[in-house]
Amino acid sequence: MRLITESEDLAPFAGCVFVPTMGALHAGHRRLVELAVTRAREVRAAVVVSVFVNPTQFNDPRDLERYPRTLEADTALCREAGAAVVFAPRPEVIYPPGAIPPAPPLPPVAVQPGLEDAHRPGHFAGVCQVVKRLFDMVRPSAAMFGEKDWQQLQVIRAMTRQLALGVEIVPVPTVREPDGLAMSSRNVFLTPEGRVCARSLSAALCAACGERTAAAAETKMAEILHAAGVKTEYAVVRDPESLLPLRPGAGTGRALVAAKVGAIRLIDNAEWRTGA
Ligand code: AMP
Repeated sequence: MRLITESEDLAPFAGCVFVPTMGALHAGHRRLVELAVTRAREVRAAVVVSVFVNPTQFNDPRDLERYPRTLEADTALCREAGAAVVFAPRPEVIYPPGAIPPAPPLPPVAVQPGLEDAHRPGHFAGVCQVVKRLFDMVRPSAAMFGEKDWQQLQVIRAMTRQLALGVEIVPVPTVREPDGLAMSSRNVFLTPEGRVCARSLSAALCAACGERTAAAAETKMAEILHAAGVKTEYAVVRDPESLLPLRPGAGTGRALVAAKVGAIRLIDNAEWRTGA
């Protein structure tokens, strides 16, 4: 496996299956890499994993500063999982001073739902900017994205379609801890008590399924999160693609939650089906 830091060295890997990450890799990322390897074998392509903590998608400078950076362990995980390349560029490679390409226009799902877009202003502009930049450099045929970041997945799908980038976006189901907590690079910051409270996000999503209406599901999730003592930012059931409110009577949707456990902000989501 090769560790590449300059974009010119990526040329032989055009057509690869790509896994963009910010590093601090865990079993969730590993699943993305493993599925990428399976897919890449079918089309005789290589797997490229990028490790880049993208400064433009952080709306809180302290979050950027303390984001875990573990390149050595990340490289080992990628090697074991069968990747051909880890691309770990310096910020100047992605954003050359004085020559930063304009950020792409944002699709409606990045600005209309009032979810991550409202709670992390500027976040999706940074995500779209870096993903477009990475796609231009890596030139993949397919790219893996986790369902854990459901709104991000819809934003990337919409952007890829809007700009006709010709990259297949492959969704990967959320990998969870045995008690249901979605794996996240931020989980390492949870205190032992916070770790217990953090279970309430997946518990709320589970309880929402089976409620008869989206409104009842939202009330149920709010109750469970409140009882666990976490600070809810949103707990909603929405259309899975547009993330706008469900049409009345719709029997399936996506339940999405965001909450602060102490200072740590967590998100999670799951399919929602009416229990009626
Ligand atoms: P990040 O490094 O947090 O930007 O994540 C890189 C990719 O891994 C994104 O597509 C995430 O959605 C995905 N990812 C992160 N955590 C998980 C998880 N627990 N299960 C599945 N995919 C994940």
